[in-house]
Amino acid sequence: MVNPRITLDRLFNGTKGPVQSGLSKSDAIDPARRFFLAAGCFCLACSFVTPVFADAPMLKSQAPGFYRLAVGDFEITALSDGSNMLPATKLLQGDPARIEEALKRNYLGDLIETSHNCFLLDTGAKLVLIDAGAGSLLGPSTGHLLSNLRASGYRPEQIDELYLTHLHADHVGGLMVEGQRAFPNAIVRVDKRDTDYWLSDANMRAAPAEARRFFEAAVASITPYMQAGKLAIFDGNTDLVPGVRAQTAYGHTPGHTMYVVESRGEKIVLWGDVVHVAAVQFKDPSVTIQYDGDASEAEHVHELAFADAAQKGYIVGGAHISFPGLGRVRRDADNAYTYVPLDYS
Ligand SMILES: [Zn+2]
Ligand SMILES: [Zn+2]
Repeated sequence: MVNPRITLDRLFNGTKGPVQSGLSKSDAIDPARRFFLAAGCFCLACSFVTPVFADAPMLKSQAPGFYRLAVGDFEITALSDGSNMLPATKLLQGDPARIEEALKRNYLGDLIETSHNCFLLDTGAKLVLIDAGAGSLLGPSTGHLLSNLRASGYRPEQIDELYLTHLHADHVGGLMVEGQRAFPNAIVRVDKRDTDYWLSDANMRAAPAEARRFFEAAVASITPYMQAGKLAIFDGNTDLVPGVRAQTAYGHTPGHTMYVVESRGEKIVLWGDVVHVAAVQFKDPSVTIQYDGDASEAEHVHELAFADAAQKGYIVGGAHISFPGLGRVRRDADNAYTYVPLDYS
């Protein structure tokens, strides 16, 4: 058996050059013939000898999770905090047969891999982060915001403003890292209704045992910013930094908020948790999820948010739509929509 490596060396050592030491003049064959010899040799190697392995090991990892987009003069960076498996059929609230059918049509089963996305806005004057990810609260498949933020070219100390869509653990857990504020220079802003609700001792005590951890997560993540004088609470629709405003989308939580970003006539609306399972909820906005504190308000928010996005054609960013979670909404029929993801660019 000829060593394939020697055959390759021969193939790439041109006929015009000197013959390699160790090879006789008779080895200098015409290049076309060499090709067939080499091919034949590889064939034999594949058929009769040990299996051929690639030189490099498999890496089993993805590129860092960030995706950049320009909106007018602003630069938006979608940042992945990771993903986890959501038991969709158990959590979604609606007609089970229709939910199952919608999942099936999208090649999905009971457990859905669900993205957790945050969004960084560089307005030119301010660096604004929308939501902080789960930190260490939801296990190792999430909590990757900081590494992806760094990979995208920023440091956590650079964040000037941090706007929370709401105080659920998967949005606030990343505010703290090993007992320290992860974003030491950021002012954290959130709607009053969410702080009133989630930071209330009385509400925590009145909540069912399994819901208490949500309150504890909110308190543990927010209190250090409050003590440092870095928590600023707003009340309803509010202009924040120029080009960014809070818009109420109450329902998922008492103070759930979307952030509307506009620059030079271009617009993106960062939805937070308006949508959890895109494959089901765009087609049927009446479907809500167990995490929605007020299901009928959440349903109303779906209808308003989908209709407005479809009518105006702006880009939306969803915290739990497949990373980077950026796309548009198309109206298909009365109260039935399709999510149209942005093309990679
Ligand atoms: Zn939530
Ligand atoms: Zn969420």
